[in-house]
Amino acid sequence: MMRKLFAIALLCLLSTPLLAAECATTIEGNDAMQFNKKTITVPSTCKTFSVTLKHVGKLPKAAMGHNWVLTHSNDKDGVIADGLKAGAANSYEKPNDARIIAHTKLIGGGESDTTTFDVAKLKKGETYAYICTFPGHAALMHGTLSIGS
Ligand code: ZN
Repeated sequence: MMRKLFAIALLCLLSTPLLAAECATTIEGNDAMQFNKKTITVPSTCKTFSVTLKHVGKLPKAAMGHNWVLTHSNDKDGVIADGLKAGAANSYEKPNDARIIAHTKLIGGGESDTTTFDVAKLKKGETYAYICTFPGHAALMHGTLSIGS
């Protein structure tokens, strides 16, 4: 009996941080203009999901800035083009762009930023796109996000 209780207590201790970790992920950007993940799967059981972008490089934001911007796949090119027009003063994002579902700040080497969004905003079965909108980066810095089971 005691052993069983102990096992349950241990399971609770172990599962709490695991459950929390499932509704968040970390993605790295580097000085070679690359994300370290090509796909992100959001568990459907999550109410909110957090993405932390970590710039593991050394170059400053003006030379090698990275952000993590989530859009519908077919909005991706428009978000990139308008981001370019918006310029550095707007972190290469059109202000109040309704096509941007979630985004982090534009960061430089050694920095990190986290964005949290409602999973209810996403549709199961749809494949979303994430990109870095810094000029020229999206060609290499892109990936897909979808809802898992
Ligand atoms: Zn970038």
